[in-house]
Amino acid sequence: MGTKGREIVGEHIGRVLELLNKAYADEWLAYYQYWVGSKIVEGPMKDAVIAELLQHAADELRHAEMVCTRIIQLGGTPLTNPKQWFAETNCGYEEPTDKFVKMILEQNISGEQCAITTYNSIIQEIGLKDPVTYNLAVQILQDEVEHEEDLQALLEDLGVFLKRQ
Ligand code: FE
Ligand code: FE
Ligand code: MG
Repeated sequence: MGTKGREIVGEHIGRVLELLNKAYADEWLAYYQYWVGSKIVEGPMKDAVIAELLQHAADELRHAEMVCTRIIQLGGTPLTNPKQWFAETNCGYEEPTDKFVKMILEQNISGEQCAITTYNSIIQEIGLKDPVTYNLAVQILQDEVEHEEDLQALLEDLGVFLKRQ
């Protein structure tokens, strides 16, 4: 299956698969962090925050799907046990122990900043050794940059709101 498509990646397949599975773990953890955050968040501007968190959760799940598709194309196997997510993740998981909007937003902003750093380094490392994965990482990076900006804009609006109370 896809023999020529794999052949062009050649000797780099092992490393590319390693990077992809680590990103795959990140995406699932990011998905859950957003999703559960949207369920428990409390405080001002809650509805706007919930809408954004749910939209981002859907994006992270779509990223997991994109990364998984590439892993399979390269002949690899996506992590099959959620326990492996914690062993492989670059960005970890920040448990939303404080439900206040500001805390939830700040945790997710730091998650996005880690995702930006991670995809940028994947892009730098892979370069033209695997143009398909490179393109995938660029597409995902564009979303992560947008996510960071959306959350920082919400945090800024929230700051104005809180100051006027
Ligand atoms: Fe993502
Ligand atoms: Fe994101
Ligand atoms: Mg958004």
